[in-house]
Amino acid sequence: MPFGKQKPRKFDRNLIVIGAGAGGLVAAYIAAAVKAKVTLIEKYKMGGDCLNSGCVPSKALIRSARFLAQVRRAKEFGFDSVTVEFDFARIMQRVQRVIEQVEPHDSIERYTSLGVEVIEGEASVRSPFEVEVNGRVLTTRNIIIATGARPFVPEIPGLDKLDYLTSDTVWQLRTLPKRLLVLGGGPIGCELAQSFACFGVDSGSKVILLQRGTRLMNREDEDVSALIAEQFETEGIELRLKHIAKAFIKKDGRKYLIAEHEGQSVEIEFDQLLLALGRSANVSGFGLEELGVKLSSGKTIEVNEFLQTNYPNIYACGDVAGPYQFTHTAAHQAWYASVNALFRPFKKFRVDYSVIPFASFTDPEVARVGINEQEAKAQGIAYEVTHYRLDDLDRAIADGQTQGFIKVLTLPGKDKILGATIVGEHAGDLIAEFVTAMRYGLGLNKILATIHIYPTWMEANKFAAGNWKKAHAPQKLLQWVARFHRWRRG
Ligand SMILES: Cc1cc2nc3c(=O)[nH]c(=O)nc-3n(C[C@H](O)[C@H](O)[C@H](O)COP(=O)(O)OP(=O)(O)OC[C@H]3O[C@@H](n4cnc5c(N)ncnc54)[C@H](O)[C@@H]3O)c2cc1C
Repeated sequence: MPFGKQKPRKFDRNLIVIGAGAGGLVAAYIAAAVKAKVTLIEKYKMGGDCLNSGCVPSKALIRSARFLAQVRRAKEFGFDSVTVEFDFARIMQRVQRVIEQVEPHDSIERYTSLGVEVIEGEASVRSPFEVEVNGRVLTTRNIIIATGARPFVPEIPGLDKLDYLTSDTVWQLRTLPKRLLVLGGGPIGCELAQSFACFGVDSGSKVILLQRGTRLMNREDEDVSALIAEQFETEGIELRLKHIAKAFIKKDGRKYLIAEHEGQSVEIEFDQLLLALGRSANVSGFGLEELGVKLSSGKTIEVNEFLQTNYPNIYACGDVAGPYQFTHTAAHQAWYASVNALFRPFKKFRVDYSVIPFASFTDPEVARVGINEQEAKAQGIAYEVTHYRLDDLDRAIADGQTQGFIKVLTLPGKDKILGATIVGEHAGDLIAEFVTAMRYGLGLNKILATIHIYPTWMEANKFAAGNWKKAHAPQKLLQWVARFHRWRRG
């Protein structure tokens, strides 16, 4: 053990959890459920990023944008005309109301009633067994670090002179920017860019989405990126791919980004800037450096397969540990961190990353579980690919939402699923069937043999499985039964 004689004889607590976001809340909940004495410390707001500046506000904003986008299609659905007048401030007020409605799920009252001691204050790790908060030093057998991440702010000349927005501050906006420049074409940049573009259509507000690489959502396959890019362009988003931000300047009170595009310098005028360039783990300023807690090359806390840091009684989960940055993966890791901390050395569970789903809530949504084609190629995994287009699905046709597809990767000649990508309406929900199938080793034959309600979106999964089956129909047997039927006809 690296801490040797610092270990006290007695501890006030079994576990202290630092940070009450998705990871910390679940870790504390599990500890209380198994009757451990647990303290959860939060310096800002219960619920962390997901509730206050991440998933919840972004999905609330997307809901308003989708509603507006649907209304604009009124004619397609048989209405002569529909007009919507709106004040952007009221849309942002609704976002806050949604946060307030969800807040009780993550509140101090709820967690106290579950048996968790909650302390509001900034925690600092003093030793592997001591955490200081509000001037008090608490002793504990174990610590879980769940301090999350914050928006990455790059070092670009002139940026410091701008009043830029990030996913932390964008929720305070009450007026729609005339020209919003979004830096970053990943899930957060795409979700926010599309929503703002939608609100701006009638008022002439515009969104410019700038991406360094050649395509949006570059972790997804090219056909996915292409579909989303096409949709964005239809919606009037100015896409600036292969643009590298070099500097921000002001001329006559106007703001410009100087970017490099294919070796040329270009100027892009904007009114408001939103940074969506990824997230940096919160690893400093609360005692980890002094203790020598090791970091990974990606500047997250380095953890082993049991979510232990280089101190066996200090664990980490969620965005601060990576490698994923989702609410559900933070919660998944939190279970392992909490159980491993509380029952070490009697029982240890290896964190299971074998089936990780995720989604971007653009319109259409993009959801995935397992590997896609580009990952299969990069890892040298042999695969077969099966497609199903949503314009074939009765329900999609009835709903007027035929854009998108399902793509399933399977082991060559077998129905074992290696990964599935869905682009389309409800993709984030539809993917769940593939998640369950992969988790429990069910192949496409099992999905095909399951009754799906007609006419639902879920049928698309079955039809994708059906396409795989058609491609693997036993030709010899079919020839034989054709002969059999001929013979029976006489
Ligand atoms: C715009 C946006 C949209 C997103 N949408 C989705 C989505 O749709 N689905 C999804 O799965 N994920 C989404 N995410 C990601 C998701 O929000 C994060 O993955 C998740 O919140 C991570 O949880 P966490 O517990 O690791 O960290 P956090 O939620 O960041 O919690 C960390 C907490 O620790 C506290 N803290 C830090 N240091 C200290 C200290 N020293 N003492 C006390 N407290 C401290 C912080 O105040 C914070 O409350 C989104 C993120 C953003 C920004």
